[in-house]
Amino acid sequence: MAKSKLEYIWLDGYKPTQSLRSKTKLVDDFSGKLEDLKDWSFDGSSTEQAEGGSSDCILKPVFVCPDPAIKNGWLVMTEVLNADGTPHESNGRALIDDKDDDFWFGFEQEYFIWDNATNRPIGFPEGGFPAPQGPYYCGVGGQFVFGREIKDEHLELCIEAGLDIEGTNGEVAAGQWEFQIMAKGAQSAGDQIWVARYMLERLTEKYGLSINYHPKPLGQLDWNGSGMHANFSNSLIRTAGSEAKIKEVCEAFRGVVAEHIAVYGAYNDQRLTGKHETAAITDFSYGVSDRGASIRIPLFTKNNGWSGYLEDRRPASNADPYKVAARIIKTVKTVK
Ligand code: ADP
Ligand code: MN
Ligand code: MN
Ligand code: MN
Repeated sequence: MAKSKLEYIWLDGYKPTQSLRSKTKLVDDFSGKLEDLKDWSFDGSSTEQAEGGSSDCILKPVFVCPDPAIKNGWLVMTEVLNADGTPHESNGRALIDDKDDDFWFGFEQEYFIWDNATNRPIGFPEGGFPAPQGPYYCGVGGQFVFGREIKDEHLELCIEAGLDIEGTNGEVAAGQWEFQIMAKGAQSAGDQIWVARYMLERLTEKYGLSINYHPKPLGQLDWNGSGMHANFSNSLIRTAGSEAKIKEVCEAFRGVVAEHIAVYGAYNDQRLTGKHETAAITDFSYGVSDRGASIRIPLFTKNNGWSGYLEDRRPASNADPYKVAARIIKTVKTVK
């Protein structure tokens, strides 16, 4: 008999940005199957999810994978329910209809590795700045690359956990990185992004570092912010077959800019200025291969007979992928 360590992970109720929380439950010889996991509870009054008088909230397991960093460990993504079993208002996953498996989402998660001692990205000298942006994006060499071993360690963890991670790259700013995860099914894409974020944040603890998901952590200097581009498709987009159909999908987003921006992350106005390969937050535009647009029609989609996927470039790195996906699904579904 072995003790299995189940790490129950959830999102707290903090505004405007929710954070990860987790606690460990020990059981004997866990089978590895989701259906064998029990609901658990926690003190919602400590996470801005309940009042002190009746503070129990429920953790309902929704996704499980091995925890490669812990012997006999498992990572259990959960959603938060109220005591009566209804979804808690902080529960973005509940906004996604579980029958929406026709939607595929590929999220590009950007982030800064942050030095807690200097309160700046790693690679930034204390009190100063490294060389200006230019050589860092996909850069090679110790003068441009900061934190590759952490990025690679995280990649291994994602692979060993069985996540659908597709790639990683060094980003435009020093100390800034990206990973991409794609899943067939919006809930699964959200689950996997959150578990990947969890492993990344936990990994940096042992180095005295942290992950900064602020969309513009260095302010209005000439340093890029971080996004979480949402690449998406459903059968309609994957088989559209005409420029008109693809553009009809893009047009569906025009009238609901505010609704989308509302769930695309806090402080995103600092990032979506219209500079640095972003559209301005109040504008709406789309175009083939256009990285200055709100929605990019990838060249692949055009060359693939106007069939494939689209990229919403507006979501920020601190957005909740569940809420982003739910909103995109709602808009795309208006197109028949
Ligand atoms: P970029 O050129 O914008 O940096 P990336 O290669 O980083 O592009 O990310 C592209 C993402 O698009 C990947 O996560 C990929 O899985 C995703 N993707 C590709 N095809 C589809 C599709 N049909 N539906 C949804 N997402 C897709
Ligand atoms: Mn990318
Ligand atoms: Mn990127
Ligand atoms: Mn992109």
